[in-house]
Amino acid sequence: EETVETMTKTKTKAFDLESAECLIEEFRGVFESGRTRSYEWRAAQLKSMLRMVKEKEADIVEALRVDLDKPELESFITEISMIRNACNLALKELKNWMKPEKAKTSVTTFPSSAEIVSEPLGVVLIISAWNYPFLLSIDPVIGAIAAGNAVVLKPSEIAPATASLLARVVEEYLDNSAIRVVEGAVPETSALLEQKWDKILYTGNGRVGRIVMAAAAKHLTPVVLELGGKSPVVVDSNVNLKVATRRIISGKWGCNNGQACVAVDYIITTKTFAPKLIDALKSTLEEFFGNDPLESKEISRIVNSNHFARLTKLLDDEKVSGKIVLGGQRDNSRLKIAPTLLLDVPEDSLIMNEEIFGPLLPIVTVDNIKDSFSVIKSRTKPLAAYLFTKDKNLEKEFVSSISAGGMLINDTVLHLACPTLPFGGVGESGFGSYHGKFSFDAFSHKKAVLYRSFGGDASARYPPFTPKKQRL
Ligand code: NAD
Repeated sequence: EETVETMTKTKTKAFDLESAECLIEEFRGVFESGRTRSYEWRAAQLKSMLRMVKEKEADIVEALRVDLDKPELESFITEISMIRNACNLALKELKNWMKPEKAKTSVTTFPSSAEIVSEPLGVVLIISAWNYPFLLSIDPVIGAIAAGNAVVLKPSEIAPATASLLARVVEEYLDNSAIRVVEGAVPETSALLEQKWDKILYTGNGRVGRIVMAAAAKHLTPVVLELGGKSPVVVDSNVNLKVATRRIISGKWGCNNGQACVAVDYIITTKTFAPKLIDALKSTLEEFFGNDPLESKEISRIVNSNHFARLTKLLDDEKVSGKIVLGGQRDNSRLKIAPTLLLDVPEDSLIMNEEIFGPLLPIVTVDNIKDSFSVIKSRTKPLAAYLFTKDKNLEKEFVSSISAGGMLINDTVLHLACPTLPFGGVGESGFGSYHGKFSFDAFSHKKAVLYRSFGGDASARYPPFTPKKQRL
């Protein structure tokens, strides 16, 4: 019998160490030839990418349905249109981004002029994750191309339909002499990681992030690590409850069913406000997903049986028994878990000690809303931190005292759709960033160039350093 699992079984082609060596050698030759450096080449690739997204939209939606049962509109908003925007912005700004940036000079170098020249790094590797398998693959590729690099993309084997679609469309639309997809899992990625790259951007979990960084260290290759963590949302009692509730739900179940790096991981609110918030969440959840959410077409499924087992283990932990205030239903055969709320689970439960990455939402209560700060600070730095409040002082203190990759006040997730903001983590949620111009910068070297002429040559800087010169 065909199940979701067998339908999406990984198809990997043999790609070994030798293939990886050949690939990087070939790409290095192409990069050295200067092919990828011109504005024309970069712009042509980006235009082709836009055409690809337009012409293959239905195929992308279908691949995301096969891999994750992602609702069509969600795929469109959170993956396809994000890529379109990123591509359009890069095309519009590319000439400006490529221009050397004038810099001030100092008295020491007088007379002189200075500029910062953005040069491509060379041959770069992008390793992406399964949860937004199209977005997280193509978005960094846009930055790598815009910056004039040759690029190899290794999509996640856990979203195999999207991975093979990416391989096909990249081959069809882009310049394969400098842009290629390698499909595969651990052995293929390990073979790629043995090579000397000029930059690696990795999206995924911290355990593998450490493997990537260790491999990169052997070659002194710089890395961007886009990792995750437990992203909290603090809900004050003075909020517009209806709007706050919708936005929390959208930042959890509306984000690939919680399987998003910036999805709301847990709520912190006051003991007195928690019952009101729970009631509002319950009724809005019913409004959005009906009274049998396992049947809802508006929610993605859990990606595979491993992740399903991981999530049910969090729910079946004896420490959380009796703490479920909504949901808990599951359907093993279709990899569905209903939106689930848990109230005041113990700190040492499994669910409070790993990134949930799914439809379970614990609510932690505190006496005073300010106590939420110490709850967040007692954990590793999250990728995102959210606050709902009308209190401007609380807002100010939140921004100045909480460390997180990014923050959003009175909403969830949307900060990553603002291309003037860098997207990336801090501490355990990673380092380095991309999006908009930050993507271009992530794949460029900022070369310092100082220009002088032969005039104004002061003898004081040259030996012999006579006592007279030393007094100067
Ligand atoms: P995953 O399982 O798809 O792994 C990511 C990549 O790592 C894949 O391409 C995979 O092939 C590769 N990989 C796995 N094991 C490896 C190994 N031993 N050696 C080399 N490569 C290996 O994705 P995941 O890790 O389950 O992704 C979920 C995590 O990613 C969560 O923590 C989430 O928060 C984080 N994430 C972060 C962002 C971000 O932009 N910051 C975005 C999405 C997901």
